[in-house]
Amino acid sequence: MSEDVSYSPATRLVGLGRPARTPGAPAGPGIELSSTYVAGDGPAYGRFTNRTWEALEEVLGDLEGGSALAFGSGMAAISACLELTPQGGTVVLPQHVYNGCSSLVDELDRTDRLTARRVDPTDTAAVVAALADADLVWLESPTNPMLEVADLPAILAAARGRGVLSVVDNTFNTPLLARPLELGADVVVHSVTKFLAGHSDVVLGALVTQDSALHARLHSHRTLHGAIPGPHEAWLALRGLRTLHLRLERACANAAQLAERLAGHDAVAQVRYPGFGAIICIEPVGGRATAEQVERTVRLWLPATSLGGVESMLERRRRHAAEPESVPDELLRLSVGIEDVEDLWQDLDTALRTS
Ligand SMILES: *Cc1c(COP(=O)(O)O)cnc(C)c1O
Repeated sequence: MSEDVSYSPATRLVGLGRPARTPGAPAGPGIELSSTYVAGDGPAYGRFTNRTWEALEEVLGDLEGGSALAFGSGMAAISACLELTPQGGTVVLPQHVYNGCSSLVDELDRTDRLTARRVDPTDTAAVVAALADADLVWLESPTNPMLEVADLPAILAAARGRGVLSVVDNTFNTPLLARPLELGADVVVHSVTKFLAGHSDVVLGALVTQDSALHARLHSHRTLHGAIPGPHEAWLALRGLRTLHLRLERACANAAQLAERLAGHDAVAQVRYPGFGAIICIEPVGGRATAEQVERTVRLWLPATSLGGVESMLERRRRHAAEPESVPDELLRLSVGIEDVEDLWQDLDTALRTS
């Protein structure tokens, strides 16, 4: 890819993170399986750096508008970001966030590492008020799984104005739907496991920042805590990333169609869909028993946790003990994939009507 042309994200997704175009060079990076390197200038050891990670980081950093670091999982990246909180500091976070993140924050609160201050992310004034004396604000928009949408520009500007560090988990959006660094976020974090890798075959995380001092701290955390990705996982994620724009376009179009039809479905009491993205949550009229029966009845949708894969998945979130009680017991989270929308509808409609 030429450096002096400004290509669109779709083109950069395809073209970046490739070896220099010298005769005989491969079209894409290899899977660099080496724990060590010949001494001298350049890479030294496999926990410090790896050229397959770097290829993935080049693409992801470019798309988010910063400098990326790949981690062994989304949670490893989240944990690194939470470590930016000073000892005994205060973290403001939505009442509903990804439950792994939520459990980790609770654990750090219990052990006096930090104090968690929960807010309703849709109440911008309340979030801004909670920033007083806070050290870090954690945001997800839409939240998992309640799909609450925060006013990111307003909250991020307020955080910056008050010197509160801000981290946005952009997993649900990907940089194609939202670019929080441009809105003033200090760090963006991803579960690469989901839409970015996109094929339900890797667990991987990443974070992106424009701040070189933060980048250095987070890089040091990754190295010293050993929170590194495997080269094979990084390669699979990069391969998946090449088609992100196509997958996301189809998944979002499918989701918009399904959300509209579900809103008119007799067996559905409530549809949550923020109007964008590929995640929908529904609450069946019949309650928890019906939701569980839907999980057992679907034949095309995969009854499984996780999201963002090419295959459509659904699950009743409260089957996880870590899911808070404020999430309705019967709430089914649907991760809409790239299959034919009529096939998806038929399977879901049948399951809802017969459950
Ligand atoms: C899955 C998920 C995570 C955790 O990522 P892992 O790769 O499973 O560690 C974090 N945030 C969100 C929004 C997620 O959906």
